Amino acid sequence: MSMDIKNGFVATVGNTPLIRLNSFSDETGCEILGKAEFLNPGGSVKDRAALYIIEDAERKGLLKPGGTVVEGTAGNTGIGLAHICNAKGYKCLIIIPETQSQEKIDTLKTLGAEVRLVPAVPYSNPNNYVKLSGRVAAELDNAIWANQFENLANRQAHYETTAAEIWSQTEGKVDAWVAATGTGGTYAGVSMYFKEQNPNVRCVVADPLGSGLYSYVKTGEIKPVGNSITEGIGNSRITGNMEGAPIDDAIQIDDQECIRVIYQLLNKEGLFMGGSVGINVGAAIALAKQMGPGHTIVTVLCDGGARYQSRIYNPEWLATKGLTPS
Ligand code: PMP
Repeated sequence: MSMDIKNGFVATVGNTPLIRLNSFSDETGCEILGKAEFLNPGGSVKDRAALYIIEDAERKGLLKPGGTVVEGTAGNTGIGLAHICNAKGYKCLIIIPETQSQEKIDTLKTLGAEVRLVPAVPYSNPNNYVKLSGRVAAELDNAIWANQFENLANRQAHYETTAAEIWSQTEGKVDAWVAATGTGGTYAGVSMYFKEQNPNVRCVVADPLGSGLYSYVKTGEIKPVGNSITEGIGNSRITGNMEGAPIDDAIQIDDQECIRVIYQLLNKEGLFMGGSVGINVGAAIALAKQMGPGHTIVTVLCDGGARYQSRIYNPEWLATKGLTPS
């Protein structure tokens, strides 16, 4: 097969472009670069983790032909898993909190996943979507629990692919890496790889309000305050994927700054992005101001805006949250 022809859907995951965010770079005097994960075939950064988790289970003999992949997910992991399950002949069962956007829920159903909507309850509750998905998987025959929060195949995907791609795209000229975490797979895999290449790369956790990681990094105590309209990021525990990840600092970004950034990305950069990108790029700008001009700061453009059209791109919905695009 020619090198230019991809062998099916799964071979199209990864190898995304690295984009210079021109308006933000020019404003700060830094090179602010975004890894274009929204260009993955399933539309998000989670395609990489989904592929690694499934192929790891195949290699270990845990997932056999006709088997089912079960996961508790805020949406994007489920969408990645559903695509890969279709391409590889597996069934997919997704347990999702009912607070997630209708667009993501509808996409999962269209892709053929069995979708179970559950109330959003804290992790400490046994009926939390993540814990529930583990129990459902254990009760099914020939099924695996993807377990993205604890399964280290997740961060391995980013260590081996996302990080290595960025390193080669920048020829190793990276001064800082900043990203918000959901499972922490992206942040941890990339920061571990970068620190091995060059211990001077500054690795910074971006955090929305309502998450406990910012206070954890600053004070050692997990103390969430406030809340956020962003989906798929923020955490109030240290996941298996975050354990041992290098963290030099944390930056907290509120929703108004997130929305300002999202709309500048749309209007000045031509990039139609999801909410977590506003936190990531907002934190990259704050870091650029801290570090001063002349630095190269890399972050991740996790998913596209179409998944949030009824929310972030709907001024009436934004107004109900006290937010305005400007
Ligand atoms: N942004 C979005 C939109 C996501 O869905 C996720 C994953 N939940 C992330 C960021 C964070 O990625 P990770 O799980 O690798 O920390």
